[in-house]
Order: sequence, then C-alpha cells, then structure tokens
Amino acid sequence: MAENIYDEIEIEDMTFDSDLQIYHYPCPCGDRFEIAIADLRDKEDIAVCPSCSLMIRVIFDVNDLAESGDEDLKTEGQVQVPVKA
Ligand SMILES: [Zn+2]
Repeated sequence: MAENIYDEIEIEDMTFDSDLQIYHYPCPCGDRFEIAIADLRDKEDIAVCPSCSLMIRVIFDVNDLAESGDEDLKTEGQVQVPVKA
C-alpha cells in the first residue's frame, strides 16, 4: 500500500484510554495518533493524527485488544449469574 505510513507501532506500546475506547500514541507534532478499539476489531490498523494527518500502522492481534468495549460491559470483580425467569 502506498500510504504515508510514518511508522509501525505495536499495540503494547500504545496507550489505551478506557474512557474514550481508543488507543493512542504520541505523534512527533505534539498531538497523538488515535484509533478506536472498535476500528481495530474491524481489522482497521491505521491510526491517524488529527493535527498533522500522519499515520501509523498498528501491529496487533485481535486477541490482544482490551477486553472492555463490547456491548455487554463486563463488571469486574463482580460475578453475575444470569437469571432468566
Ligand atoms: Zn501529528
């Protein structure tokens, strides 16, 4: 692909923001590359910096993605037994 990929970054080197549900990584321009976890799950692997339009390719395995973000939000430290009437 002839895209302007600035670098390739492993997902473990990125920071996960559980509030925004995005992974981000510092951009040389002072802003940061961002990609939504939903996009990663969608096989999207290009994170874009909104300020300078640089791009990085995220090296990741879907299994390595953070657990939260699914529709059924997991309640940590609390076991829920499904009760169906
Ligand atoms: Zn930038």
